[in-house]
Amino acid sequence: MTSPSSLAFLVVAGGRGTRAGAGAPKQYRAVLGKPLLARTLEALHAGAPSALLQVVIHADDGAAFAAGAAELSEAARKHLAAPAFGGASRQESVRNGLEALARLETPPKLVLIHDAARPFADPALIERAIEAARDFGAAAPGVPISDTIKEIDAAGRVVATPERSRLRGVQTPQAFAFELILDAHRKAAGGKIDFTDDAMVAEEAGLPVHIFAGDPKNFKLTTPEDFMRAEQQLLAALPDVRTGQGYDVHAFADGDHVWLGGVAVPHGQGLAGHSDADVLAHAVTDALLGAIAEGDIGAHFPPSDPQWKGAASAIFLRHAAELVKARGGMIAHVDATIVCEAPKIGPHRDAIRASLAKIMGIEEGRVAVKATTTEKLGFTGRREGMAALALATVRLPL
Ligand code: MG
Repeated sequence: MTSPSSLAFLVVAGGRGTRAGAGAPKQYRAVLGKPLLARTLEALHAGAPSALLQVVIHADDGAAFAAGAAELSEAARKHLAAPAFGGASRQESVRNGLEALARLETPPKLVLIHDAARPFADPALIERAIEAARDFGAAAPGVPISDTIKEIDAAGRVVATPERSRLRGVQTPQAFAFELILDAHRKAAGGKIDFTDDAMVAEEAGLPVHIFAGDPKNFKLTTPEDFMRAEQQLLAALPDVRTGQGYDVHAFADGDHVWLGGVAVPHGQGLAGHSDADVLAHAVTDALLGAIAEGDIGAHFPPSDPQWKGAASAIFLRHAAELVKARGGMIAHVDATIVCEAPKIGPHRDAIRASLAKIMGIEEGRVAVKATTTEKLGFTGRREGMAALALATVRLPL
């Protein structure tokens, strides 16, 4: 195996590509609620957890990059280097990234150069890329072509039909011995040709470039249709759909606000409890734990444990959401109902939804918060306390 510091991923994210629509450069657009660049970096990190992640960004994209980096797992973020800045062309951007790696105290031995818009590089592909870099010094993943390819002239006339069995559609990560590709890029810099991939740069430098098996799933997202296909591909990988329910009650006590989903809602009373008594957060936490069959909130955070006295219940909810993530799953939907005569929930509903979504790290559109009274019946009707019910739907890999 390649030793930890000897491999770096160089991710090219400097493009202004707006063909995907929706304004922002496509690498920062959300795919199922997470920026494309963050998904790509997570995929690379999963394939080689100890490798450095060096991204090349456009000088205008510092804020978008930081927002994307914030969505990475802590483990991946630890390997993320400060971004390098791109140049006028893809070639120049890669060169800048390579030079940033060359300035490291210990530059990598191998570098895998990857498009930010390819989030489906799986561990097997990355392993093939590392092996090819080590064995051949310069290599690129290629997939067989199913269409017949024609070479045409300026008038649109066919001038050649290359033999299809000898053609490959080339993807990334392209894999290189670091010194070789750094040299090749330095030689190519200032040249007339604008190389569209790094294999071409290596070819131009006279290096033999080997093609290893690519992966049809590792496609590049360019158009709005590609983004839809990517979301479908992600959902298809999470076919095990589960639902959990949660229910919680807290009694009213002295106070001037109640915590609901991480929001302090002003009220003539508070809620009694060992933690902050956030009845809604507790119900949602139990719903998530139920969906992954991981016990209940009391098992994870025993009320007998003094460290949870007065604790913000966001801690409990975040933990449950992280357990779903750790299983490789996603929270597809949360639907919650608050039961009380007062306070009125309507004016706070949007804030509560936003807060719950933020704590769980999902889009607001996946969170519903409703409220009802019990027509003055029962303990909630008598204003003795509040109840909350929640359903959570999660999707898990098989
Ligand atoms: Mg509770």
